[in-house]
Amino acid sequence: MRVAFLGLGAIGTPMARHLAKPPFQLTVWNRTAEKADAFSRAHGCRVAATPADAARDAEVVITCLPSSREVEQVVTAADGLLDALATNAVLVDCTSGDPATSKRLATVLAGRGVHFLDAPVSGGTSGAESATLTVMVGGDAGTFARVRDVLDAFGEKLVHCGPVGAGHALKSVNNALLAVHLWSAAEGLAALKKAGVDPALALDVINASSGRSNASMNLFPQRVLTRAFPRTFRLALLDKDVGIAAQVARETATSSPLLQLTAELFRTAHTLLGEEADHVEAVKCVERWAATEIS
Ligand code: NDP
Repeated sequence: MRVAFLGLGAIGTPMARHLAKPPFQLTVWNRTAEKADAFSRAHGCRVAATPADAARDAEVVITCLPSSREVEQVVTAADGLLDALATNAVLVDCTSGDPATSKRLATVLAGRGVHFLDAPVSGGTSGAESATLTVMVGGDAGTFARVRDVLDAFGEKLVHCGPVGAGHALKSVNNALLAVHLWSAAEGLAALKKAGVDPALALDVINASSGRSNASMNLFPQRVLTRAFPRTFRLALLDKDVGIAAQVARETATSSPLLQLTAELFRTAHTLLGEEADHVEAVKCVERWAATEIS
């Protein structure tokens, strides 16, 4: 199977690594060409000069870019995918994108006989390394069946969620829940610290009780108490995801005061902490406003 992978970022790189071996013939493209060259030296695959060059021969093209805006750019640019994709090829967008753009792209591509699936992933960079990602697929079920082996190379739980856009919608809500858990745990632990309760002890109790979450069980013990804050998933990207979830709620006329507020808080945190901050660093805003440190 000839596969092209576009976007060798924090999660794209370990995902693509699993495709750089038989039965796949991999071509990679990255905006910053040095990263694609380094990947090719390490894993022995072809490097394409442009998205069009990457797509020309491919049966399956995977995009893993920051947002749907960049995906639309690489599809429609002069040296983009649109004119290069073969009839019956499949564009699988693993970006955490937005449903509205995906539906528009799917329609444009269908006009050229090209199939589109949104297939965002969850599980973080460690899940990508160990090929245990959850993949949430939106689009035609038959097309999903055709590319299942490709997704299986980096995914463990592959789920067909519904029509085009369903994967992106579900992923945005998942990440909005992550954001809510992260922020609410930070507020609670900051208050407890100021009330004289040790945050490590509080987490120990919460993690044996009904308030526990991935944030309380993993992120706070491993990244906040230790002050390690490793950079695995940029705050800018989580801000984008919560914004998409809030937009999905608005578009579906769902009353969503908590989602809208969370989107606002993460937009503020992103503005204060910058493009390169990790998502868990949003906790630092709560700490700053509470004048305490969760450690
Ligand atoms: P990064 O910021 O690490 O990488 C972004 C990638 O997109 C890079 O390859 C970058 O190229 C490329 N890119 C950026 N802007 C453009 C552009 N205008 N045109 C073409 N290429 C561009 O992001 P991640 O790898 O972390 O995330 C990718 C997607 O996966 C996002 O949608 C994110 O929300 C999602 N995701 C990430 C997870 C994680 O743990 N990191 C977990 C689950 C989902 P260049 O090298 O030139 O900068």
